[in-house]
Amino acid sequence: AAQPAAGYLAGLNPEQRQAVEATDGPVLVLAGAGTGKTRVLTTRIAHLIATNRAYPSQILSVTFTNKAAREMKERVAHLVGPVAEGMPWLGTFHSISAKILRRHAELLDLRSDFTILDTDDQIRLMKQVITAADIDEKRWPGRMLAGFIDSWKNRGLSPKDVPPGEAAVFANGKGGVLYAAYQDRLKTLNAVDFGDLLLHCLTLFRDHADVLATYHERFRYILVDEYQDTNTAQYLWLRLLAQGRRNIACVGDDDQSIYGWRGAEVDNILRFEHDFPGAVVVRLERNYRSTGHILATASKLIARNEGRLGKTLRTEDELGEKVTITGAWDSQEEARLISDEIESMQSKGENLAEVAILVRISAQMREIEERFVHVGVPYKVIGGPRFYERAEIRDALAYLRCVVSQTDDLAFERIVNVPKRGLGDATIQLLHNHARATQLSLLQAARAVVETEELKPKARTSLRELVEAFARWTARVEHMKQGELAELVLEESGYTEMWQKDRSADAAGRLENLKELVRSLDEFADLPAFLEHVSLVMDADGGEAEARVSIMTLHAAKGLEFDTVFLPGWEEGLFPSQRALDENGRAGLEEERRLAHVGLTRARKRLKLLFASNRRIHGLWQSSLPSRFVDELPEEHVEVVQAPSVYSQGGYGASRFDRMESFGSSYNTPGWQRAQENKAKSGSGFSESGRGFGQGGGNRQRGPLLIEGELTAKST
Ligand code: ATP
Ligand code: MG
Repeated sequence: AAQPAAGYLAGLNPEQRQAVEATDGPVLVLAGAGTGKTRVLTTRIAHLIATNRAYPSQILSVTFTNKAAREMKERVAHLVGPVAEGMPWLGTFHSISAKILRRHAELLDLRSDFTILDTDDQIRLMKQVITAADIDEKRWPGRMLAGFIDSWKNRGLSPKDVPPGEAAVFANGKGGVLYAAYQDRLKTLNAVDFGDLLLHCLTLFRDHADVLATYHERFRYILVDEYQDTNTAQYLWLRLLAQGRRNIACVGDDDQSIYGWRGAEVDNILRFEHDFPGAVVVRLERNYRSTGHILATASKLIARNEGRLGKTLRTEDELGEKVTITGAWDSQEEARLISDEIESMQSKGENLAEVAILVRISAQMREIEERFVHVGVPYKVIGGPRFYERAEIRDALAYLRCVVSQTDDLAFERIVNVPKRGLGDATIQLLHNHARATQLSLLQAARAVVETEELKPKARTSLRELVEAFARWTARVEHMKQGELAELVLEESGYTEMWQKDRSADAAGRLENLKELVRSLDEFADLPAFLEHVSLVMDADGGEAEARVSIMTLHAAKGLEFDTVFLPGWEEGLFPSQRALDENGRAGLEEERRLAHVGLTRARKRLKLLFASNRRIHGLWQSSLPSRFVDELPEEHVEVVQAPSVYSQGGYGASRFDRMESFGSSYNTPGWQRAQENKAKSGSGFSESGRGFGQGGGNRQRGPLLIEGELTAKST
């Protein structure tokens, strides 16, 4: 096999090269973070094109995000030139599926210009379907049905395939019928939801062998990144497409499977070898991304998980800097410590585009964002809007703006029917006409209109309630703390309840964001001062060319890498998330640990963990314990850094860890208690092992560092 290596092959290690050059037949690359899996895929595409095995248009490659797809296209173009630009089939499962569906829509009773519904539309439709079936939508909310239907779609189940037992869980056995009715409604509307994109493709491929055959002909090669996070529907989709030529290469890492809650099945890795017998399985063991201490820390942490395939990782990089662990007094100090470090890096001329802050939940971002805005650190939020740009925050702000001002029409329009209160387009139009004719604002017009006969009784009652509520709230501005008032407004308007009833995956996060908003309000003199502040913050955008720090959730960070990574909020209850533990027990804990592992392995050179002893959760200050994951890190690779406040605030003299322990008596929620008991049991709480840490020094050794892992497969 010793052919002269083409330019793009140079630099690959033998295993990587094997994975690139094994062009025909099934290939599975199962390897840890930073071992070059994605690089293998991009090089493989380049290789297929350069050796004329396929035109760019004959290669199907699936990435997990659109961002990853764009990057992959760039990387390929870098390797083989502009020919790579025409890669129409490089994208996410959803984008590729949509493209296929548009070409064959008529076979699925759709027109090719079908619309793809967003979650709001989806829920609205569910409600209609539920009500039409004479079921009480209050007892059986649309969002709940949406949750069930999504999970069926993730598993590739059409209405007729839903096991009767599962259909029974919704509305006394009506789940399946409603699912079917919902699908019918969608067809009538010439619409699909996200889950349908895959599901309809499955139907298409199964019912129309001739169509499937054309794709077998077209897709000479199939490549899949982040394979560990495919769900069943995606797996079936791949299997159908790959049946033709069997040229499918998947790369993945079972230790980075973090979408179990969304239906991903790690077992798909095991199914691969079963469904594609004779697959070449390549293991990559050299990590090219991280320095020694970082890699060792990540490997030791993930070794605690039981359900693993197991692997060995090594780096030939230097040990580098130790992973630092910093305890802050509270979450504000945590944000300050991060911004201080970034400012000092900035002053040394470091590239801020190479710095990332990865959080467990998006509500953690606000304090950090505020701090950055305050000191002028340029940043961007990846995979989501910045805090004040989030839909739920904008809604809440719109309410507050209406409370403060009678004339804020934009704000009023935004929330007049959120939550839904029967004030549809016709009502809004009427208000607009009235407002224009009388030179009043919408809210003022509404006040006038409810006194007339112009509206249908239902809408009138509803609008009157809203108008009266605003009058009530406005009257309280002078007399109530703004945080309390905001909470009241969100309660009484039904806004909070709307999200409480929401069964979609991000609802909990939105509620947390709202609490975070309420809590932040009291830091300002009054409500107008706060709103003024927000409008300034929203505007504080630097030029696009400017290098910025990236802030994102751990989930959004998959596949990415940065020189410096900050991981704040490593506290029990937050990370691992109490919810994951409560809902999924041990499996939940292991998924959280994999998420921690993903976070740790994003760093090339510097990795900085932080936790706070006090954090405001749901508006209340809580003492918090360092995450059990902190305890699980290997002492010899980490260094404990004292936060300045330990000296200034406590005056404890001794180490911070004594002080941490002194909080023991005040934990009151079950989560904190459990964490404490665990610590007591293991006898190696952070407070004890902590003292052994932090001896620093000797971190510039060179040479290969082998991190032991299990080579044999453990039972999963
Ligand atoms: P993850 O599991 O996090 O997605 P990965 O296995 O996909 O990681 P890549 O992102 O492909 O890893 O590679 C990690 C880094 O190592 C990249 O910067 C890549 O360019 C570099 N790299 C990979 N292989 C080599 C190699 N043979 N020589 C030098 N650098 C390499
Ligand atoms: Mg990758």
